[in-house]
Amino acid sequence: MGGFSIGIQRPAIHQACCLLVEAVVAKMDGGLLCFTDMKINRAYKTELSPNNCQRGAFMQHAGVSRFIYNWALADRIARYEAGEKTNYYEQRGRFNALKHKEFPWIRDTAYTVTEAAFRHLDTAYKNFFRRIKKGAEKPGFPKFRSRKQGIGSFTMRGCIHIDQGRIKLPRIGWVRLKEKDYLPTNGIKILSVNVSEKAGRWFASVQVEMDIPDPEPGQGEPLGVDFGIKTLAYCSDGTTFENPKALANGERKLKRLQREFARRKRGGKNREKTKRKIAKCHAKIANIRKHALHNVSYHVTAKTKPSTVVVEDLNVKGMMANHCLAKAIADVSFGELRRQIEYKGHWFGVDVVTAGRFYPSSKTCSGCGSVKPLLKLSERKFVCEKCGMVIDRDLNAAKNLASLVENDASRGETHR
Ligand SMILES: [Zn+2]
Repeated sequence: MGGFSIGIQRPAIHQACCLLVEAVVAKMDGGLLCFTDMKINRAYKTELSPNNCQRGAFMQHAGVSRFIYNWALADRIARYEAGEKTNYYEQRGRFNALKHKEFPWIRDTAYTVTEAAFRHLDTAYKNFFRRIKKGAEKPGFPKFRSRKQGIGSFTMRGCIHIDQGRIKLPRIGWVRLKEKDYLPTNGIKILSVNVSEKAGRWFASVQVEMDIPDPEPGQGEPLGVDFGIKTLAYCSDGTTFENPKALANGERKLKRLQREFARRKRGGKNREKTKRKIAKCHAKIANIRKHALHNVSYHVTAKTKPSTVVVEDLNVKGMMANHCLAKAIADVSFGELRRQIEYKGHWFGVDVVTAGRFYPSSKTCSGCGSVKPLLKLSERKFVCEKCGMVIDRDLNAAKNLASLVENDASRGETHR
């Protein structure tokens, strides 16, 4: 698990020395050393309330970000074809040398936006090569960005300040926030801000580095969590999280809008209007889904504070191949849920364990431990032939997962 290091009380130590120590600690990647504070990187995303002038500046910055990204991508392709090597620094240097002459309008935007766009392309390239190395079927070569896909986003660094209800961005100035007390103002180091547009609304995702007190290890009983399609998550303590109904409603609405879109005349104004409505509907569905996932991951870690959370290692790829289930599974995004449980578990002192892929959590009786040879998906109740126990299928699976911690930890692989 990257992305964090253990902080150190640093009053007397010289800054440079401190950085060195931190680097060493970060390398050890937690676990062995115990200090009073834990340093984490996290992002806070919140909606902005820009005025018209700022909206214009946002569009301009997003445009520059897109332009640089595309320029850098085209340049990399050209260099490759010419048999020359390039990298982030070389590219950026060459661009800076010619930008005043060729692209003088770039001067109107913050410099760090240019830098970040080059960095993003570099990361996209690195990810591409990493996927090739791993032997991915579709390594996904970086794509050119188009205005048609949306206004997009831009990233800034440097002189960023957060005040009650507003945020100060370089070149743009103070921008009001829709939510007043969400962004932290004290005890943080702001690393960067990404400003993005979605369905006509603007958002800022603020990356911060902060010290949080080393969490006290969870004391509660181990908690098993079974992921499902109708019920999003079934916990072994009996708590259930239904998939929000609003999701299905939103999808019906989306389908209707898409039909409406198909009827509209190409290039017409009404087509544009429907397009905006569709974007809005998409954003809303995504938000409902996100909210549901965060709700579950927060509950099973911070709220219940068990000593360990056991989740299944879902073979998501294998399940996606099954067409019937594919959509539903994409919907609830189990992978994202697991990711959230993992990092939140880390923050709140809860161990997260993944059960082995072939552990029969649904087929085992949580009462006596006998394993059924066959269990149909349609059987919602688990009936044990040996001890006669009747229990909800998902609750049974969750209980089995929880008992993995006590019985045989070696069957699961630890994720910390
Ligand atoms: Zn039994």
